[in-house]
Amino acid sequence: MSHIFAVANQKGGVGKTTTTVNLAAALAAQGQRVLLVDLDPQGNATMGSGVDKRALKKSVYHVLLGMASLVDARQTSEAGKFDTLPANRDLAGAEVEMVDLDNRETRLKRALALHDSDYDFVLIDCPPSLSLLTLNGLCAANGVIIPMQCEYYALEGLSDLVNTIKKVHANLNPDLKIIGLLRVMFDPRSTLSNQVSAQLEQHFGDKVFKTIVPRNVRLAEAPSYGLPGVIFDRAAKGAQAYLAFAAEMIERAKTF
Ligand code: ADP
Ligand code: MG
Repeated sequence: MSHIFAVANQKGGVGKTTTTVNLAAALAAQGQRVLLVDLDPQGNATMGSGVDKRALKKSVYHVLLGMASLVDARQTSEAGKFDTLPANRDLAGAEVEMVDLDNRETRLKRALALHDSDYDFVLIDCPPSLSLLTLNGLCAANGVIIPMQCEYYALEGLSDLVNTIKKVHANLNPDLKIIGLLRVMFDPRSTLSNQVSAQLEQHFGDKVFKTIVPRNVRLAEAPSYGLPGVIFDRAAKGAQAYLAFAAEMIERAKTF
């Protein structure tokens, strides 16, 4: 059975896509079979995996609408050594087109269920909203990874997401749980970052991952080369953090 994790936070620019792509590549580098599902019409995770979103014949859009199977639409990230179910602008239409369909919240779940033995980990990059697309991600997943920056408003935004996860758990997906909070773009010299980080540990205890991802420009440069950061510059501090995070995930996954 695969571990299916949604990487979610309704705020934009908090490191969801960077986390999804780099965790996928880092898990693959440690011998895991990985599928990355891009659920954001911006297609950043697709491009960051080295798959050209402008050249897709089939994408996650077609899978959600029942017009293609996962096998038809998935592509290999040669750079990252994992599979991707890619996305592009088409996906923006899916939101509206799915509204009248049966099981609109569980369409991704159904598509993935047919391939449960193909992968050790499925990582779903969610868009920055609590939309029907994100809902499909949360219904398909058994766990949520929440990347967050340690800044003043971080905790405030978190309560909306935690409430949504609780609702999905109660009404649509009893398997869903929060796997953990990942501190990203961390600046160890900032007093505020350290204070918020300590608060997170107080509130959420062992739901806070031990690994902390520092702010590191090499992670931000990698997508323009169509490479995951952990492949682009493996020695960089950011890449090393994501490799450590993958090892932490593999350890935690044994306890699920
Ligand atoms: P989201 O998917 O939540 O919108 P992204 O992963 O796209 O967020 O990250 C937003 C921006 O921050 C991107 O330009 C990305 O390259 C950059 N970024 C993400 N994580 C880091 C990091 N640890 N260090 C430096 N830049 C980062
Ligand atoms: Mg993103």
